[in-house]
Amino acid sequence: MTAYPPQPDRDSAPWWERVARREFAVQECDACGTLRFPARAFCAACRTEGWHWREVEPVGTVESWIVSRQPFVPGRREPYLVVMVRPVAVPGCLVYGNWRAARHPVGGERVVGVFTEVGEGLTLLDWAPADAGTPRSAPY
Ligand SMILES: [Zn+2]
Repeated sequence: MTAYPPQPDRDSAPWWERVARREFAVQECDACGTLRFPARAFCAACRTEGWHWREVEPVGTVESWIVSRQPFVPGRREPYLVVMVRPVAVPGCLVYGNWRAARHPVGGERVVGVFTEVGEGLTLLDWAPADAGTPRSAPY
């Protein structure tokens, strides 16, 4: 099957460049300080267009998860597990990523980001249990 890797656009390209450097960053509004993710052109809270990147700890809690059978990432063997994570630094936002553990996630459990190079110049921000130590292979 054909893979569909992420296609960075004007707003997200700098975020993908930071992920390749193993950095998790969100946008911070220059006017009101609201943090936001994913990247967008203006602040939803005050409509200001000025912003800058702010690096934050890649930690959060599992909001939900699914088993994907769609091969979005080159070299990724499906099915695989995708988690929806609520970052501690930006609790009003959600981040999606591959699950990196030999068991299923549990809703509300604490997770940490794991930067994974998958080839073709692409690095992903995956998620693993915070108490698991070194991530092992995925359950799928
Ligand atoms: Zn704002």
